[in-house]
Amino acid sequence: MKKLFIKTYGCQMNVYDSARMADLLTPIGYAATDTPDDADMVILNTCHIREKAAEKVYSELGRLAKLKPQRDGMLIAVAGCVAQAEGKEIIARQPAVDLVVGPQSYHRLPEMIAKVARAGGHALETEFPAEDKFDALPEAAHEVGATAFLTVQEGCDKFCTFCVVPYTRGVEYSRAPEQIRSEAERLVERGAREITLLGQNVNAYAGRDAAGETWTLARLIRRLAGIPGLARLRYTTSHPRDMSDDLIAAHRDVDALMPYLHLPVQSGSDAILEAMNRQHTADTYLRLVDRIRAARKDLALSSDFIVGFPGESDADFAATMKLVREVNYAQAFSFKYSPRPGTPAAAARKQIPEDVKDARLQALQALLSGQQDAFNARCAGKTMPVLFEKPGRRAGQAVGRSPWLQPVHVDGAANLIGQIRDVRIDAVLPNSLKGVFADAPREKALAI
Ligand code: SAM
Ligand code: SF4
Repeated sequence: MKKLFIKTYGCQMNVYDSARMADLLTPIGYAATDTPDDADMVILNTCHIREKAAEKVYSELGRLAKLKPQRDGMLIAVAGCVAQAEGKEIIARQPAVDLVVGPQSYHRLPEMIAKVARAGGHALETEFPAEDKFDALPEAAHEVGATAFLTVQEGCDKFCTFCVVPYTRGVEYSRAPEQIRSEAERLVERGAREITLLGQNVNAYAGRDAAGETWTLARLIRRLAGIPGLARLRYTTSHPRDMSDDLIAAHRDVDALMPYLHLPVQSGSDAILEAMNRQHTADTYLRLVDRIRAARKDLALSSDFIVGFPGESDADFAATMKLVREVNYAQAFSFKYSPRPGTPAAAARKQIPEDVKDARLQALQALLSGQQDAFNARCAGKTMPVLFEKPGRRAGQAVGRSPWLQPVHVDGAANLIGQIRDVRIDAVLPNSLKGVFADAPREKALAI
């Protein structure tokens, strides 16, 4: 067997794609290794969302280029959004790269590898091919843990003015419900108890079945929730504009749908939201949050924020802080605006100085981490179902997730993996919880 090392950058969709690339290369004789040092093929599955993410790829390529002369026949591939955005520029900048493949064409990797082996030189695939990538992928063969990702939707037509995704991932595309269901069943057969449905705009899901009927994400969730052995469902990432009534109702009705929702708002200022082309205001977002919370009282919210978007004034930033106080998030990700070549905002004249971005990011993160700490602190003494995923770092410990995605540590044997057990939280650590198995029966609805 040849050895394959895949390094994944960026979002969960890349994690999914990396697993599928491994599935694709298994039949042609590649098995995973966990270091590039002994690899026959290294794939960097890249992210282009912020400048830093892209730059990291080039420095890793520099390290790999030094390794290549010591490993006869070693192949270096760049996949993902940097591959899509920069194409042959990558080979010009780092000639040690053999293959460049975009996120829509990685099913062609085996023939690209064969071509390079046969004829030498480089292989490049960054078109959006006519055939369905998912039809061309083999059944999942990679190791499946207690939790698994499943991409149901790709691409984005929203064109937020800061974002490269519509350019690197293409237009919105939804997989057929039957195809998703059989992949989900296979993941469950292989050990998954929880599946997270993925899409750049997952709640814009509109997959057509064999009868030509279009399914919403809510309908898909209701169907998947019936798979025997599947205990938990999640989905990410959602756009506020596509948060439909039937999806909100699914949060009320479907027990397997976990009470946690990542619903990025980006900013609390209407002027900035408009300049971002987000197609919602702070007020429509807040009213949406109220409706979701009315449907599922214990739902915890998370979000993404961008500070220092071009033209953002002190008053705009204050509006973001105000919105955060009103929503009260359980978790959040916040970033300094990073101009991306080719996006409208990158050409805006009023770019914000770095020191202002830094100060705003610090203030926002302090507020958000205070909210996260308070959310975790409210869990102390509660009993909650925990899905165990892996052994803890300390011997004799297992780690799982609460319904609200918090890591929970418990002293217990490794055979807990894949089980859901009731745990009473007895300690709140900086980014996780610690608990003991509860003998008391689980409370049905936890209001925290
Ligand atoms: N589709 C999701 C949505 O609508 O919110 C987000 C997808 S994007 C992969 C993840 C996050 O990266 C965004 O929510 C945004 O906060 C951040 N992001 C995207 N472009 C950015 C940029 N140019 N600078 C800084 N952060 C950015
Ligand atoms: Fe990017 Fe999300 Fe906006 Fe699409 S909706 S352009 S993925 S931030």
